[in-house]
Amino acid sequence: MSKSTSVDQLIRSLVSQGIHDDRVLSAMRAVPRNLFVRDDQSQRAYEDAALPIECGQTISQPYIVALMTQALQLTGEETVLEVGTGSGYQTAVLSQLCRRVVSVERHETLAESAKSILSELQIDNVTFRLGDGTRGCREFAPYDGILVAAAAPSMPRSLANQLGVGGRIVIPVGDETTQTLILATRTDQGLHTQKLCNCRFVKLIGREGWSDQDD
Ligand code: SAH
Repeated sequence: MSKSTSVDQLIRSLVSQGIHDDRVLSAMRAVPRNLFVRDDQSQRAYEDAALPIECGQTISQPYIVALMTQALQLTGEETVLEVGTGSGYQTAVLSQLCRRVVSVERHETLAESAKSILSELQIDNVTFRLGDGTRGCREFAPYDGILVAAAAPSMPRSLANQLGVGGRIVIPVGDETTQTLILATRTDQGLHTQKLCNCRFVKLIGREGWSDQDD
């Protein structure tokens, strides 16, 4: 099957699952997912499935990438914090839709690989940081959007605090096997929270996540 056929099928599947934001669909169409998967997974690059990457992590399912991105309601002006760069696929999608992405990863191998793919794609509005993203990244706060790509036992306080008023955070919260994808908006009165769907992510490891003995 040609790559364009596979992309077309993937986009149709996203639409049928309720992804309706045209900007998000265009970004999903524009970012070549085949560059972000391992060579032994290249046949599956356009399947709507999470796939294994280095360091025992996964590249997220395209539907979940699209759903989380759509939930942030980006217009192009925002500064967005991403926790868990992983392959860099979600990072590349976000980079098409906002002014600047700050992406934090705890595994250097993944951060370096993501950085080099994004530079190959000539994406120049992403700042990479290595470290514990549960603490956020104060240097560029407050954020208009925060996207957490790993499962947290509860909402990390530092991340909620680095969200500007009116800003949105999307994050999977739950135990090690099942989580709920939460969308929370910061208002003057605090966080207004809604549930999007059930999901399953790898663990968020850090001071305000799971302990690294669980890695
Ligand atoms: N959206 C990414 C998902 C990667 S999986 C993709 O599609 O490729 C989640 C990533 O979060 C993993 O790479 C993992 O190493 C990273 N991670 C887990 N805890 C973290 C933390 N506290 N800070 C930064 N990255 C973290």
